[in-house]
Amino acid sequence: MNSEEDKFNLAFKSYGGIYNFSRQNSTTTMIVFALTRIRWHLDIIRKQKEMPFPEIFISAVNNSRFGAKAIKFEGKYYIGIYIGTIKILEYLFMRILSSPNILKDLGDVSLEVHHDKIFSARISDENHIIDDFVRPNCEKRRSLALQLISQAVHYLFLHELAHIRNGHLDLLDYLPNDSNLLVQAMTNKKEFIPLVSQTLEMDADAAATLLGTQQIEFICSNQWTEGFLHDFFIVKDQSVALWAFSVMIVWSISNFGEKESEINILSSHPGVGVRGYIVSNMIQTIYPNDDKLLDMAGEYMGEALKAFLEISESKFHKQSFTVEKERKFTAFLTAYWNNVRPFLEPYAFCALAPYKEF
Ligand SMILES: [Zn+2]
Repeated sequence: MNSEEDKFNLAFKSYGGIYNFSRQNSTTTMIVFALTRIRWHLDIIRKQKEMPFPEIFISAVNNSRFGAKAIKFEGKYYIGIYIGTIKILEYLFMRILSSPNILKDLGDVSLEVHHDKIFSARISDENHIIDDFVRPNCEKRRSLALQLISQAVHYLFLHELAHIRNGHLDLLDYLPNDSNLLVQAMTNKKEFIPLVSQTLEMDADAAATLLGTQQIEFICSNQWTEGFLHDFFIVKDQSVALWAFSVMIVWSISNFGEKESEINILSSHPGVGVRGYIVSNMIQTIYPNDDKLLDMAGEYMGEALKAFLEISESKFHKQSFTVEKERKFTAFLTAYWNNVRPFLEPYAFCALAPYKEF
């Protein structure tokens, strides 16, 4: 281990420490691919003319759970992707693309066959995978699954990056010394009040949507469509829509255990339906006049929720995306941003929403 890896290992010690990359398996290949894309993008973001932000060391954590985490440790910033995330995404995306009923227009679905449903597609730990791995028969759909896995990991990274770049971690770091109203609103466990936490999650989702769609556009406009990218990531509308599809799958997995249609202001994270609205609203903000793109993105996000029902026995979030109270709660959260934003501003390494370019 070099000294940076050593420090990363220490920072994530209680979460499992750094992943051992000398393991030769498909998970290692996929995480290396995802980390390459992540570091390349981080470099581009760093070169944008904005307030400089600190070095961030990114690697994989030897943790079987689904997720990623941003940490400030001894004054330095780290983002760790839990390695279980890769296995879970591989398991689910391969199964989803194996279904002849999902994303029917992509590749040759006539090659696909029906598989028995798995018990639940909400898997929080790779050790909970009990059914067999299946893969699409159509090579193009297998390639698409790989690309969607890479995008899903990338979205998790961008979300964690926003927790650092938008000042969330530093605000949380500073709060115990502060005597303002926000601190009084904290519980005696020194936890952030849930609503503030949900607002920060909303901000991270919005920032990840902006940065994620920017990268997809860059890939399209630079004809970065060699190999398996070539089939599906040439047209901007479809690329953004597929991006939104993978993001909806991410939030559907990670809202493990929550009742989808329930608006829970005591939860630290918004529910899957609310997150869907946050991403959808953000896409509408980025592409205000692009009706074709917006229609397609909406359609694919709906398709992602359908995909969960298609492969899984558990009947969750059947209508979550259309539930009116989730839409209203998203609007409430967006308005609540005005209370949180001023506290965040001194800690942010970038312009906070509303972003000046819109
Ligand atoms: Zn978060």
